[in-house]
Amino acid sequence: MTITASVDRTIQLIGSGEASGETCTPDLLEAPWQFDLGMPSYGPGASMDDPIPADTPRQGELPREYRDASAEELAERIRVAKNTLGERVMVLGHFYQRDEVVQFADFVGDSFQLANAAKAHPEAEAIVFCGVHFMAETADILTSDAQSVILPNLAAGCSMADMADIDSVEEAWEQLMALYEGEGRADAGGAASVIPVTYMNSSAALKAFCGRHGGIVCTSSNADTVLRWAFERGERVLFFPDQHLGRNTAKAMGIPLSAMPMWNPRKPFGGNDAQTLNDAKVILWQGFCSVHKRFSVAQIEQARVDFPGVRVIVHPECPMDVVDAADEYGSTDYITKAIQAAPAGSTFAIGTEINLVQRLAAEHPEHTIFCLDPVVCPCSTMYRIHPGYLAWVLEGLVRGEVINRIPVDADVARHARVALERMLAAKPGSTMAA
Ligand code: SF4
Repeated sequence: MTITASVDRTIQLIGSGEASGETCTPDLLEAPWQFDLGMPSYGPGASMDDPIPADTPRQGELPREYRDASAEELAERIRVAKNTLGERVMVLGHFYQRDEVVQFADFVGDSFQLANAAKAHPEAEAIVFCGVHFMAETADILTSDAQSVILPNLAAGCSMADMADIDSVEEAWEQLMALYEGEGRADAGGAASVIPVTYMNSSAALKAFCGRHGGIVCTSSNADTVLRWAFERGERVLFFPDQHLGRNTAKAMGIPLSAMPMWNPRKPFGGNDAQTLNDAKVILWQGFCSVHKRFSVAQIEQARVDFPGVRVIVHPECPMDVVDAADEYGSTDYITKAIQAAPAGSTFAIGTEINLVQRLAAEHPEHTIFCLDPVVCPCSTMYRIHPGYLAWVLEGLVRGEVINRIPVDADVARHARVALERMLAAKPGSTMAA
């Protein structure tokens, strides 16, 4: 299928029968407000299972005026509200947001670039984060108490982040500590038996867990550096929530698959025996990204048949066999820079979220760029930030009302900041003390 409009427009055309093609879930054909009634069930920890503190705002129903407004009316209202607020507000847009939202972003980037953009602008009283829950939390951790971080739709979570909640991780930790450090078995040389490493795509509660237990945060750009940092301090790593990023990174470092058992949080010892866990180097939490899991080796083979000489680049959240079959893999930043640096006339098949791929294709008409997955499948939770919600929260700010603020508990934020700062200070070969 040839996609010529924005991803949102394409989905609308498919839904109305005016375009052929299919989306990966019928949910995408529904308006996002069909899914947010009674929200939030997402706590400040992003995971649906994390506790919600009493001061967390409950999202009310999106007022009808925003649900009924046309795309043009919403765009105009957003423009007017932004102009009225000026520098008092900063709108951040993740790469995976729809174009109808990204066009209003003051900064566009990945979750960490956006958190840093928030940190670099203390003059903004409000930061409207068009992304998902854990990203807004990270921005709140890195900004001052005087700044409000707003998530336009509280139903915009991350299904991967939800796969590791704080209770399950603490339970896993207790079991590992009993195995590794019980009965005087702690390492005599002073190295920790296991270092917790959390992907940025996780709740603030998990980042704080890592801060408290000598652990660290990683992104898809620096996972290799972070794992090396961890192995300078410990014998093993407990990596959550994305098994694929952990496996792909550790494999590239030369760690054998046999030393990377999976941890199933629903089973005692994650479903492993003691010997396997003793021999482990990286224990992989059984989480994954539903968007990146869709890419397959068959899609890569088809792209090579259809476009001989195509350069295939995939994100490290893709399964290992897909990463192995691709020409290259890397973060969204890596993918963007590879396309920018390529000679005109290059052909790319990209394995990451379709809004970013479509935007790169539009920005680089000198290349042929397409998504490996022929089905229109954006991240369905990112997709819940509809322009109607952006207009709602911005007009609220104009009236002096802060809607959908994401507050992170001060103690959680303090420990999470420790894990984030370790990541910022980590360099290949770093000898920084834990
Ligand atoms: S693309 Fe995957 S990891 Fe990113 S927000 Fe969506 S579900 Fe989460």
